[in-house]
Amino acid sequence: MRFGVSSAAAVAALLGCAPCLRGRPALPSAPAAFRADDWVAVRDLARIYGAPVRRDAGGRYAIVGPRHSLWFADDGRRIRLQGVEVWLSAPLSSSALSAGGIHRADAAGLVDVVFRPWAHLGRYSAETIVLDPGHGGRDGGAVGENGLLEKDLTLALARAVRARLAVAGCKVYLTRNDDSFVELDERPRIAAAKGGDLMVSLHFNAAGVGARGAETFVLARAGAAPTRAPDPRPSERYRPVPANAHDAANFALGYHLQRQLVRAAGYEDRGVRHARFAVLRAAPCPAALVECGFLTDPEDARRIADPHFRERLAEALARGILDYAMTVRRARAARGAPP
Ligand SMILES: [Zn+2]
Repeated sequence: MRFGVSSAAAVAALLGCAPCLRGRPALPSAPAAFRADDWVAVRDLARIYGAPVRRDAGGRYAIVGPRHSLWFADDGRRIRLQGVEVWLSAPLSSSALSAGGIHRADAAGLVDVVFRPWAHLGRYSAETIVLDPGHGGRDGGAVGENGLLEKDLTLALARAVRARLAVAGCKVYLTRNDDSFVELDERPRIAAAKGGDLMVSLHFNAAGVGARGAETFVLARAGAAPTRAPDPRPSERYRPVPANAHDAANFALGYHLQRQLVRAAGYEDRGVRHARFAVLRAAPCPAALVECGFLTDPEDARRIADPHFRERLAEALARGILDYAMTVRRARAARGAPP
């Protein structure tokens, strides 16, 4: 559903963007800097998407309509956005339904990017793809109980994803194509040299007992704490970096990758998260880092050790990238640019 003039104006007003032109929704952009008291009430958010607010038996709020599904988690730090777990940049305010709400940066930079991608992604392309197999050479990365090495898995996975994307007509480059050590800051430079429209860094996870599933990281926006920070509140010490110019596209890419890691690969959903990893900070184009399961979890490790499952994983990542590419193409078409 596209918004009419009045709805577009409502989105513009609520998400803090310029008035729309010629009846088309203007590009709502998240504020450049976090302000601690910058909230959009959940009731108002529901109104601009034309969907009612619901509350389930557990007291959780949701905005659910024919085309929109947004559930707020109990802890106030996560949402389920069209079925995908997404961590918020700022925790919900305690009176989310009316007086307070969801942070304006999350409303504009997470929710609206998924509900109205054409308003955010029209300037992007997705023809040249850079895959970044994590670790390599003297840096082996995580080690599985079954002896699997992360650096070998990421390289094999990158090659398998590349094969699928090449069939779909994409130009694909790898930041390394053998067991060599590549510095973290060299990887974004390679992406820039290859003219990458997007970069996906591939990893497998390691943790203590109990952690399993897939998670995807995108660059934390300026002022927002990383998801793993002990204190999740916004802070001025999280200064912007140039890659923050791609916040909306970073998230859209991460969202589609995570969605397919859960749907096509069948992983437990640990959500799209925010981080300040070196490869994300220095990325010259929209970028995301995927953690494709835990080598330290017996169940994940058993699946990852199976070559058939790894093919499924490659398929999921290729699909996620192609979903993002399709979204970008439609957004370009919607703004009148060549697809
Ligand atoms: Zn890694």
